[in-house]
Amino acid sequence: MNDITLAPIQPDQPSHLMATYGRQAISFVRGRGAYLYTEDGTEYLDALTGIAVCGLGHAHPVIAEAIAEQAATLVHTSNLFEIPWQTAAAQKLAEVSGMEEIFFSNSGAESNEGAIKIARKFGTQQGVSSPKIIVAEQSFHGRTLATLSATGNKKVQDGFAPLTNDFIRVPFGDIEAIQEAALQHPDIVAILIEPIQGEGGINTAPQGFSYLEEVRSICNQHNWLMMLDEIQTGNGRTGKYFAYQHTNIVPDVLTTAKGLGNGFPVGAVMTQGKAVGLLGPGSHGSTYGGTVLGSRVVYTVIDTIQKENAVENAAVVGGYIVDQLRAQLADKNVQVRGFGMMIGIQLPKDCAELVAIARDQHKLIINVTAGSVVRLLPPINLTQAQADDLLERLVALINNYL
Ligand SMILES: *Cc1c(COP(=O)(O)O)cnc(C)c1O
Repeated sequence: MNDITLAPIQPDQPSHLMATYGRQAISFVRGRGAYLYTEDGTEYLDALTGIAVCGLGHAHPVIAEAIAEQAATLVHTSNLFEIPWQTAAAQKLAEVSGMEEIFFSNSGAESNEGAIKIARKFGTQQGVSSPKIIVAEQSFHGRTLATLSATGNKKVQDGFAPLTNDFIRVPFGDIEAIQEAALQHPDIVAILIEPIQGEGGINTAPQGFSYLEEVRSICNQHNWLMMLDEIQTGNGRTGKYFAYQHTNIVPDVLTTAKGLGNGFPVGAVMTQGKAVGLLGPGSHGSTYGGTVLGSRVVYTVIDTIQKENAVENAAVVGGYIVDQLRAQLADKNVQVRGFGMMIGIQLPKDCAELVAIARDQHKLIINVTAGSVVRLLPPINLTQAQADDLLERLVALINNYL
């Protein structure tokens, strides 16, 4: 059957890939849980999980079986027909998210595009001719034209003008700036923010999650939609199913992707309350969104997260990692920020080179974001023993470096 073997890549072989990523010269051929393996069998501890994607670890047997069985049965029929797995996946996602309506997409950016369209429709229905959305500095919302315009990072936008300019940018956590914007722009209809800025360096607002509560009350006051980008923070990552559940509020619009499919490309935009019903027949769509296969994966991922108590595990074991890092690195000039299995170690200097040192000397896969923040996104079902393994490698890495 599948008897194709790839020839090893030769160093002088020309690549036909667009050079959109600076790739590390290593490839993994196999994964199991929190570990990745190269062709020669070398084992690496993966504290990145495909950038917060494989929350249940690599090659999870239950997910693998669901994919294999569904792939051999029926992959795709289109949204022109009823898809029982899609209905069931939406039911499950509604249960864990507290949201009412769900539209399935294929990526994070696409989910945020859906949220932006919902905000525009919300405004248009109220006679606002040029609806505006408040977004934050240092945010990341994706690489499509609308989502890169919403993103608070000049490097992401550079060279892609004209941008969608109906976004109003405020400093993350600055409530007064939002009040100020409200006075200046009568046509604001929504706010889109991340509960914790992931690409921005694992940051909550300075006042913590109470920022979200303050934003909620401003949105109520002005009849704006509160929209949360939980592409990265969702699906148990922060020790709650969605990070907003660390608070008492509920957003009107919620987006997610990454951990939703454990590596299978899926995303979702969800609504409740006054955001429900804005997108009707003909107003939005996606050929691949919510295929039979993708929907079964979503259903199985959520079901597995629940059965493994993975969200609680992320809170407990993630909390342990943060406590240990603070204790073991107490004499170093570092700041540890952590929410479940979303952990950032702020170093006193730029440290991009740590990615290669961790990989080559400690067989540890990490990421560095915002220049000087070591970012850890291990599986949310990491065991205590694996957490100790991670700590040993990481503390040695940082002790040697600082
Ligand atoms: C990764 C990410 C996105 C973009 O998701 P893609 O699937 O790459 O399009 C958007 N917002 C946040 C917060 C993210 O972390």
